[in-house]
Amino acid sequence: MHVPRVFIETFGCQMNEYDTELVRAILKARGYGFTDSADTADVVLLNTCAIRENAHNKVYGHLGALKPLKEERGLVIGVLGCMAQNLKKDLLAGDSLIDVLVGPDSYRALPDLLERAAAGRKGLAVDLSEYETYADIVPDRIEGVTAWIAVMRGCDNFCTFCVVPYTRGRERSRDLMGIVREAEALAASGCKQVTLLGQNVNSYRDGSHDFADLLLAVADIQGIERVRFTSPHPKDFPDKLLEAVAGHPKVCKHIHLPLQAGSGRILQLMNRTYTRTEYLALVDRIRHRCPAIVLTTDVIAGFCSETDAEFAETYDLVRRVEYHSAYIFKYSERKNTIAARKFADDVPDAIKTERVARLVELQRGISLKKNRALIGQVVEVLVEGDGKRSDQWRGRTDGNIVTVFPKRGQAGSLSAEKLPVPLSDPIKPGSLIPVHITDATVTTLYAHPD
Ligand code: SAM
Ligand code: SF4
Repeated sequence: MHVPRVFIETFGCQMNEYDTELVRAILKARGYGFTDSADTADVVLLNTCAIRENAHNKVYGHLGALKPLKEERGLVIGVLGCMAQNLKKDLLAGDSLIDVLVGPDSYRALPDLLERAAAGRKGLAVDLSEYETYADIVPDRIEGVTAWIAVMRGCDNFCTFCVVPYTRGRERSRDLMGIVREAEALAASGCKQVTLLGQNVNSYRDGSHDFADLLLAVADIQGIERVRFTSPHPKDFPDKLLEAVAGHPKVCKHIHLPLQAGSGRILQLMNRTYTRTEYLALVDRIRHRCPAIVLTTDVIAGFCSETDAEFAETYDLVRRVEYHSAYIFKYSERKNTIAARKFADDVPDAIKTERVARLVELQRGISLKKNRALIGQVVEVLVEGDGKRSDQWRGRTDGNIVTVFPKRGQAGSLSAEKLPVPLSDPIKPGSLIPVHITDATVTTLYAHPD
């Protein structure tokens, strides 16, 4: 019997990567196989992101490229995830390439919809749920030493620029014990690092347990060496959570603390619910309790009505805080969001581009300075696998900085030749080892085993 083969391409954030693992598990249970190319697939699924215009455009580009395959051999094409909602109309258009549309809360409906699509009937499932957490589904993960666990889904914050509350629905958390059992099973299979995921992860709540309780419960699991989390909202950072990060040796000393803007008026327009002063006080509080912390952030440049002076406040805040790295985005109006309904997207594109470029330049200088300051230090790295070259290992520091170092027997010989790895090399993916930093770029540390 022919086992239908599925190719899934994932766009966007870690939550989407995680959802792809859930979708693989759902399809596997119904007898589907997988392939790593559209050319050998019976079904192609695009797991999409709607957060910015360019994410949207990428998906349209990929759909166009699938047209010849669809015409040649009747490929079934599905669009999953955040864009599914917005594409309802396109599905119904006579010449649409899309057979199936499935939103983030409806993945359980996918196998039935694919079966119907194979028989020529298009279908969609895009309802949002107040309860769906997929807690009973074990994601079909690519085995490795790191894994993600989505601990909550959706978002109730309604930042005015953001489409997530509309595409992923209301906030809901999984139960703490279910998450702990999943992490224990991961540890038993050799996983060393778990990243707890949520759009607003520190709003996690299970009865009387809050996010700090969850973080500590996962960190206490034997075999799990590191726990990370992303993304917390700055409005929910109580001392208890800071204590959990600072005080538990297995909770990584890295906090991604999305800023979005440095001007009080813009923060208010964005409905971020913190002021510039409160954000800076939080950074001080974190650094005071945990001087070793690595801070990273997200910034949006060119939000509705942002003036030069207000942008200068963002620039100044990024310069003052000195993040280790930052994702810097050009504001992109998203349909249905509060900003799209109430404010004019009136900062000219050329000015948005220039503001992004200025922030990127500033941040690159800071990142390089911070990375170079680590030269000469010994840091602990969790080895994740081969580097770009097979004679190198690639891992991350506790602060999440990518670190590359030569395999044993090859220290000092960073030539382009691919030397065989001596059998005696005791290092392997999952090793947690001290390395000596010898060089640094904006994004990467270079090291030698200590
Ligand atoms: N929940 C996280 C938080 O509160 O910061 C962020 C989730 S969002 C998927 C990731 C980042 O995308 C945001 O932090 C924001 O910087 C950026 N983003 C979201 N909507 C955007 C928009 N309309 N235009 C540009 N960037 C956007
Ligand atoms: Fe979007 Fe704001 Fe929710 Fe983050 S907290 S997902 S930016 S609405």
